[in-house]
Amino acid sequence: MRRILIIEDEEKLARFVELELRYEGYEVDKAFNGRDGLELAKTRPFDLILLDIMLPGLNGIEVLRRIRQFSQVPVILLTARDAVVDKVAGLDGGADDYITKPFAIEELLARIRTAFRKNNYSNQSVEKNNLIIGDLQLDPLKRDVQVKGNPVYLTKREFDLLHYLLENKNIVLDRETILEKIWGYDFSGETNAVDVYIRYLRTKIEEPFDLKIIQTIRGVGYVIKDE
Ligand code: CA
Repeated sequence: MRRILIIEDEEKLARFVELELRYEGYEVDKAFNGRDGLELAKTRPFDLILLDIMLPGLNGIEVLRRIRQFSQVPVILLTARDAVVDKVAGLDGGADDYITKPFAIEELLARIRTAFRKNNYSNQSVEKNNLIIGDLQLDPLKRDVQVKGNPVYLTKREFDLLHYLLENKNIVLDRETILEKIWGYDFSGETNAVDVYIRYLRTKIEEPFDLKIIQTIRGVGYVIKDE
């Protein structure tokens, strides 16, 4: 069953949408502010998120930005009429669609189905591009990482680094090459950045699972090898 997260501070509206979605057969969770919504999104896999833009505290655009650091879950923004700037910021920030309040529930349901169709389509085409080594699986388009079937949340930089190592598996990559590829123009001269991020990766993909995935080649760099 598909699970949808509603992040909306108008509790009446959130409850109404929840009821309608449950009636349509979806599982539903809801959060009444951005921070709680973000936490839920981190701890549970959702198939779609309905995200209000005008939220107290952490606004919808910021919540979206943070969700995109670890997930490509489809996001439909709920926007106020006339909030053109928000719509543009939202779509630029990685939203899949938006719907203007007040909306007819049928329209929302149609947008949700469309989002699922698009997502299914990309899921199918991605499958064979997954990079798999042992217990580690990385989906480059969804930017999903799983270890032993558990989702692992990586920042953009951590993800890019792991992706690069996997794409070049069995090749020892030196620090300079990695820096140039992953940090590029952003690189500000801290030569140990690669080691720092390898350490971050290890605390997320190795230590919790008691695995050894990334090998250090002394004096050279790093490599991920086929077992
Ligand atoms: Ca609101």
